[in-house]
Amino acid sequence: MNVFYCPNCAHCAAETESAMRAGDICPECKEGYIGVETLPIEMRYCPNCEWFQAAGTSSVRAGDICPECKKGYVTARER
Ligand SMILES: [Zn+2]
Ligand SMILES: [Zn+2]
Repeated sequence: MNVFYCPNCAHCAAETESAMRAGDICPECKEGYIGVETLPIEMRYCPNCEWFQAAGTSSVRAGDICPECKKGYVTARER
């Protein structure tokens, strides 16, 4: 899975659920430029609603209830 990632604000989105392209201005902070993440960053992922975020950008940990749907359990996942 490719992940679009803003190095400025750590906003990220899955390629499959975003209309962003590499090189776009970040929709979140309007300052960073979106790149396709190629580093093996660890992601926090909810299998229930497909919410995810790069580890280290939030306090969500593996095993926590998903902050988005409040139903799934967040798992750690290497991209
Ligand atoms: Zn940004
Ligand atoms: Zn969820």
